[in-house]
Amino acid sequence: MALKSLDRTALIVIDLQNDFVSGSLPVPGGAEIVDTVNRLVDLPFALKIATKDFHPANHVSFALRHDLPVFTKATIFHPSDKARTKGLEQVLWPAHCVVGTSGANFVPGLNTDDFTTIIHKGVDPDIESYSAFRDIWHYQNSDLTRVLHKENVTDVFFVGLAGDYCVKYTALDSASFGFDTWVVRDAVRCISDDNIAWDEMEKKGIRFVESAELIAKFSTLEA
Ligand SMILES: [Zn+2]
Repeated sequence: MALKSLDRTALIVIDLQNDFVSGSLPVPGGAEIVDTVNRLVDLPFALKIATKDFHPANHVSFALRHDLPVFTKATIFHPSDKARTKGLEQVLWPAHCVVGTSGANFVPGLNTDDFTTIIHKGVDPDIESYSAFRDIWHYQNSDLTRVLHKENVTDVFFVGLAGDYCVKYTALDSASFGFDTWVVRDAVRCISDDNIAWDEMEKKGIRFVESAELIAKFSTLEA
């Protein structure tokens, strides 16, 4: 690993919420990563940030909104795109991470004490965001870039769920916004085929690391 110092590092824990572990949209093996994520949260990253999928009950990504079966697809448009020119294909999910439900809560056992920022995604009923940096049309950025720049972060490490959706799209944006971007592979689980997600990320310059390797690296840097 090329990491030289700890004071410009950030850990971002993606969507480690009940619905993605044991609720309406469980990611296979999601519960297995909680202990590993906690070990990483204990490391002296300069910033520790969490994200939450945080939807209203009629969110545009929910199948019930379109009266279509779950896991089918529909084309959706940004509400400002009145001419409907920039449609994007949307997987229609079971309702998940609805504000005010236990499904939106962090999973029990996750150490949340050290998170200084929590980024909420998909809060607008008509706008989907897989990435914690911006919506799927790239019309509007969240606070995340500003938070990372404020602390002069250079290296961002991603863990959480799901590897082939929110982790992948957030990591891709992180790389395109110029951060050295890492995915801690054993602290991520995917909904479907993880090899496709890894390949896509690797092509964009994202690097992979195992948690043990990262913990060892931090202990040499701290010494
Ligand atoms: Zn969602």
